[in-house]
Amino acid sequence: MGKETSKEFFESVLGLGPEWEVSEVTLNETSNQVTLDLSLRSGAKVVCPECGESCAIYDRNVSREWRHLDTMQLKTVLRARVPRADGPVHGPQTIRFPWADPMARFTLAFEAHAIDVLENARSTTQACKLLKIGWTTANRIMERGVARGLEHRKLEDLRRVGMDESERSEDSLPQAALRVSAARQKSFLKGHRYITVLNDLDWGWVLKVVEGRTEEDALALWGKIPETNRTTIKAVATDMWQAFENAA
Ligand SMILES: [Zn+2]
Repeated sequence: MGKETSKEFFESVLGLGPEWEVSEVTLNETSNQVTLDLSLRSGAKVVCPECGESCAIYDRNVSREWRHLDTMQLKTVLRARVPRADGPVHGPQTIRFPWADPMARFTLAFEAHAIDVLENARSTTQACKLLKIGWTTANRIMERGVARGLEHRKLEDLRRVGMDESERSEDSLPQAALRVSAARQKSFLKGHRYITVLNDLDWGWVLKVVEGRTEEDALALWGKIPETNRTTIKAVATDMWQAFENAA
């Protein structure tokens, strides 16, 4: 494949939008890696992350890399210099990339795939092996996945909710790991052994998570649901913990 053809090929399969182009495709046959250099097309506008206003580019900062989905079993990395938007109100601001969360070292497409694997693998360790990522990385990916999910989750029309505790363990079931990941990093440091999770039983997703499993923790968890949303709840399922029953 010629140079131009391979750039066009990657541009069309990446689907990054009209602003970005693939400026270089580098194959490293020793490390089995493809690196795709991305750059903003000349004249492309960027958006201030604070107010969404379209503005010119202030400068281009350091180069950053994101692991993307493999291409034909080749580890695939996107690389771009980070542009700052020249916002008239907010000044120079690092832009948001369409393909990744702000601090992530992986693309959203890779993270979505990783979450699929983590959910369906028999253990987190097994998923990590398949994905060629470490345990901490898997946790961060799940944490961001949960956060993205929570952003879009509605608290209106709650009907049936469940309150459960989870014990953290190095190799808990992937599903449980997905649930606890939001609180895991912090609780590791603090030494909490348990976390409490509030689930929407009708939709099967996590609503809120707190560390610990005392009555106080359970009450704090309820406190995260605004009172107007609590009034629509018709049923609460909890396990046998007295603390949870009292809080409910
Ligand atoms: Zn702004």
